[in-house]
Amino acid sequence: MFILLMGPPGAGKGTQAERLIEKYGIVQISTGDMFRAAVKKGTPLGLEAKKYMDSGSLVPDEVTIGIVRERLSEDDCRKGFILDGFPRTTAQAVSLDAILREIGIELDGIININVPDEELIRRTSGRQICPTCGATYHKTLNPPKVADVCDKDGAALYQRDDDKEATVRQRLSVYGTQTKPLIDYYKTNGHYVEINGLQAVGDVFADVVAALESDRSC
Ligand code: ADP
Ligand code: AMP
Ligand code: ZN
Repeated sequence: MFILLMGPPGAGKGTQAERLIEKYGIVQISTGDMFRAAVKKGTPLGLEAKKYMDSGSLVPDEVTIGIVRERLSEDDCRKGFILDGFPRTTAQAVSLDAILREIGIELDGIININVPDEELIRRTSGRQICPTCGATYHKTLNPPKVADVCDKDGAALYQRDDDKEATVRQRLSVYGTQTKPLIDYYKTNGHYVEINGLQAVGDVFADVVAALESDRSC
């Protein structure tokens, strides 16, 4: 199963990806996670990416396309993957098409999760992440069993630097100008589906799976 998850920051892509990974036994390719890992390690890629992430803007296309190209060439992607947070520009979408053609893969589902801006602010402002396993929670909307502690491994959860409201508003504006136009790029593709993200996590997941399964039976 080869899935592209689209939607604005905070729509629930990572949350749905966690469940899809388990259901289909496929890998998640999140460019945001890859950049955060590089920042944490202090690699040259991380130092470069951090400048853009801190201000809520996009890391340049050449850099981002390069890391995705490299990642998609790895063996564990052959069984299936979920692209989360990529592509975010038309240039990235065009490059993705070229890379997929080169490696002989076709997307099975292009899922766009819709959530209005004010809810995105609410979701990002309470988002908490596990530094060990990457699991995503929300202080009130999707809380861990014990406050501030990961259910899976007990690690102390942290808040992302770029989830401050001012930075989120900047990220939403960047989404509107640079990423939203990709809906037009994909909506004529027969695998494109819009999902109402303003439902409980499990209900969104049920809609995503139903869309993927109905697509597969065609
Ligand atoms: P994205 O990967 O699209 O940026 P996340 O999956 O990290 O979004 O979700 C953003 C925040 O919203 C997280 O705190 C998450 O726990 C919460 N969240 C995700 N899906 C839902 C939902 N359907 N209802 C309420 N909160 C949600
Ligand atoms: P995310 O975790 O998807 O919210 O991404 C966090 C930040 O990483 C974004 O605000 C960008 O600065 C950067 N980033 C992630 N994915 C991309 C991408 N496909 N293109 C450019 N920048 C990206
Ligand atoms: Zn964890």
